[in-house]
Amino acid sequence: MIAVTILGATGTIGVNTLDVLARHPQLYRPLALTANQDVDGLFGQCCQWHPDYAVMADADAAERLRQKLAAEGSSTTVLAGVDGLTRVAALPEVDCVMAAIVGAAGLLPTLAAVRAGKRVLLANKEALVMSGELLIAAAEKHQAVLLPIDSEHNAIFQCLPDEQRHDMGAAGMRRVLLTSSGGPFRTFPPEQLANVTPEQACAHPNWVMGRKISVDSATMMNKGLEVIEACHLFAITAEQIEVVVHPQSVIHSMVEYIDGSVLAQMATPDMRVPIAHALAWPERITSGADNLDVFALAQLTFEKADEQRFPCLRLAYSAAREGGTAPAILNAANEVAVAAFLAGSLPFTAIADVVEMTTQQLSSEAAVDIETVIAADLQARRTAESILPALARQL
Ligand code: NAD
Ligand code: MG
Repeated sequence: MIAVTILGATGTIGVNTLDVLARHPQLYRPLALTANQDVDGLFGQCCQWHPDYAVMADADAAERLRQKLAAEGSSTTVLAGVDGLTRVAALPEVDCVMAAIVGAAGLLPTLAAVRAGKRVLLANKEALVMSGELLIAAAEKHQAVLLPIDSEHNAIFQCLPDEQRHDMGAAGMRRVLLTSSGGPFRTFPPEQLANVTPEQACAHPNWVMGRKISVDSATMMNKGLEVIEACHLFAITAEQIEVVVHPQSVIHSMVEYIDGSVLAQMATPDMRVPIAHALAWPERITSGADNLDVFALAQLTFEKADEQRFPCLRLAYSAAREGGTAPAILNAANEVAVAAFLAGSLPFTAIADVVEMTTQQLSSEAAVDIETVIAADLQARRTAESILPALARQL
């Protein structure tokens, strides 16, 4: 039995992970489940799965969960806060950690899993964007196995030879073609983008996802974060990555080799495919996803990404090139701006403005340790917050 901690169990990725685990009860056991504030959501999961631990980041929510579980006679231990999250990420009896908290909040729990040498299924791209070198170095030092859950990175991983995943030259790899659906606004009239609502931004054509990553997909910041993510996971530079808009989301990314071969991974757009892949790797298990019906696919199309329409992509490329704490600054400003947009207090097009102004006001430094990264994140949040009022007035 493989014991699994799911960080962010109540989210889209968490729920999909439990769906895959439910198909293989003889192989996997969820040992710890965590959430932020959704007491009812985590309570329901605890009643179904009887994990040893349940953790709520919010202390009041943890207390309410504790009372509800006690009333059911549950034996699940309830923990609270970042300490609780890092503890269940690193428990000796845990084999595998699904890192699926959204945003910078996932950094310390993900790092704890890496430092404990776990098999880490990495969905929380923001953690890697913020602290790429440190996280990769920690994984090497503590012999943690990092497996990408982001569908594009999981696709790239599957298209690379086992032995040379971190040595592009030895693998004979020329470049990565990182696919993107283009999001809900790919063909939207640009002059109307300033007035789109959170509901429009969250209505993704191909994927059902949490609200933050849905907005990131709509601005294409998601693709920008994924460029940075790919640089760290596969030890490549931003110049070796080309974003390819592929509206059908069937090819999840491609790797081009020096002999002209291009390998692609294809599947129906269903996150259970990369989740099942990473859970079982190097073996395979069923995921519950529909088979890909190539006859039903009328066509697969490809376009260049439009940096004019999607300035976040350009900003992310430049943070990737700059390195150091630049990606952490970019990420923090984006989290602040997206939260303001989702709260209805910032126009959609101002998300990129907040990010650009924040990155202009702050200079990056070498990301020597995690404290430096966290300090850069906090400073960028304060700067972004101070920029919001001026842009919000345009509403
Ligand atoms: P979601 O919003 O649906 O779920 C987020 C989870 O994190 C929830 O369980 C929530 O309770 C928890 N959480 C939120 N804030 C927290 C905090 N401060 N402390 C502790 N826990 C907190 O998000 P999602 O769509 O499942 O995405 C999760 C991560 O996976 C993100 O980093 C996202 O970029 C990445 N990802 C998601 C998809 C997808 O298809 N949904 C695809 C690729 C990558
Ligand atoms: Mg992705």
